[in-house]
Amino acid sequence: MNNVDVIVIGLGSMGGAAVNALAQRGHSVLGIERFWPSHDRGSAHGGTRIIRQSYFEGLEYVPLLRRAYTGWRQLEEQSERSLMTLTGGIYIGDPQEETFAGALASAQHWGLPHDVLSSEEITERFPAMRPAPHAKGLFEQNAGFVDPEATTAANIQVATMHGAELHFGETVLSWTATKGGGVEVVTTRGRYGADRLVVAPGAWSERLLGEVGAPVASERQVVYWFAPDTSAGKPSLADYSVGTQPVFIERTDGNEQVFGFPIVPGQAPGVKIGFFHDYTPTDPDAVNREISEFEIAQMQSRTLDLFPHLTGRLLAGSTCLYPSSPDDHFMLGLHPEHSQVTVATGFGGHGFKFVPVVGDIVADLSTRGRTDLPIGLFSLEREALRR
Ligand SMILES: Cc1cc2nc3c(=O)[nH]c(=O)nc-3n(C[C@H](O)[C@H](O)[C@H](O)COP(=O)(O)OP(=O)(O)OC[C@H]3O[C@@H](n4cnc5c(N)ncnc54)[C@H](O)[C@@H]3O)c2cc1C
Repeated sequence: MNNVDVIVIGLGSMGGAAVNALAQRGHSVLGIERFWPSHDRGSAHGGTRIIRQSYFEGLEYVPLLRRAYTGWRQLEEQSERSLMTLTGGIYIGDPQEETFAGALASAQHWGLPHDVLSSEEITERFPAMRPAPHAKGLFEQNAGFVDPEATTAANIQVATMHGAELHFGETVLSWTATKGGGVEVVTTRGRYGADRLVVAPGAWSERLLGEVGAPVASERQVVYWFAPDTSAGKPSLADYSVGTQPVFIERTDGNEQVFGFPIVPGQAPGVKIGFFHDYTPTDPDAVNREISEFEIAQMQSRTLDLFPHLTGRLLAGSTCLYPSSPDDHFMLGLHPEHSQVTVATGFGGHGFKFVPVVGDIVADLSTRGRTDLPIGLFSLEREALRR
């Protein structure tokens, strides 16, 4: 049986970052992934992921985001790839509701540069958007997007350069903590031993972590690319594109929160938009990848609340999975019963922007048993995770 320092299960967003961080620190690492590098079956595909710092989901996330930004630039240098594009970001909503008010609270608490804009000022600056008259927007220069497929490829590339052994097309069937304080992992191809284990299987977490009681739902999520109507008198294609249009999140008058991206050179020539949550639990091995006419009509109608001229046809659509925890906070820490096992899951619909810092945290936990980064909110023993 092989024996390495650390085995990592799953080489998607977080597992990719973990093998990279561990290999760079000089540990012998074996990473095991059921699909191929940068695949489109899990949570890490579709060309773009929003990255932002004025975080309405909680003040606790901001120090991690600051660290993640440094990590993004480092990963770009090490892999010689362009991963992060800062376009600015705007979070629009009722002045007292979470989207706007939470972002403002975060920006003020951490002294993050931002502008507060009225509905009219938003349209003046970003002509494609026309929010409800009483809505407000928090604009943050330091937001934009990262490329999920290129990120996973970059982590795999740098980990390999530092000696990590990575297996693709191999599924982990089970793992056990051994009496000597190590672990044993059984896969479709063999059996491996290690001192430590990292479990990062995303939407498949229930299969490998069921016994922790890890209640990770796999949630089907659809994103759409709509073409704008740019006929005379309407906003131009440039108004919807990187250079003018920022990434956006909007929720006003109790409608369903949406998020989206400007038109990105080299991708479908439409605005990418999706609901923040679909609340559709799904079996990760039997995902309905068909997008129904009803779903398209529902999204198109919601899109018009913010972009009155985004009336063109659907250019593309994609289904993706959220590995969601019950309270939408990550599940990141040592396994409650086996301290040689680190769990990294529950990243839901907002984890990607943290990829580099999660790699550091996982490497800290699995080699030192602790981290100096603030992860109290993500405890596996918190009340919200009790079934
Ligand atoms: C449509 C959509 C939009 C999103 N938008 C944003 C955004 O704008 N900003 C943001 O920050 N986040 C966003 N997210 C969320 C973010 O992408 C996820 O939180 C993140 O990708 C989850 O990473 P993960 O490593 O847990 O899962 P994954 O990246 O899916 O990795 C898990 C890996 O484990 C592998 N695996 C599972 N079981 C096994 C097994 N038994 N053996 C071997 N391998 C296994 C899987 O094949 C997979 O490769 C979005 C997600 C979706 C779906």
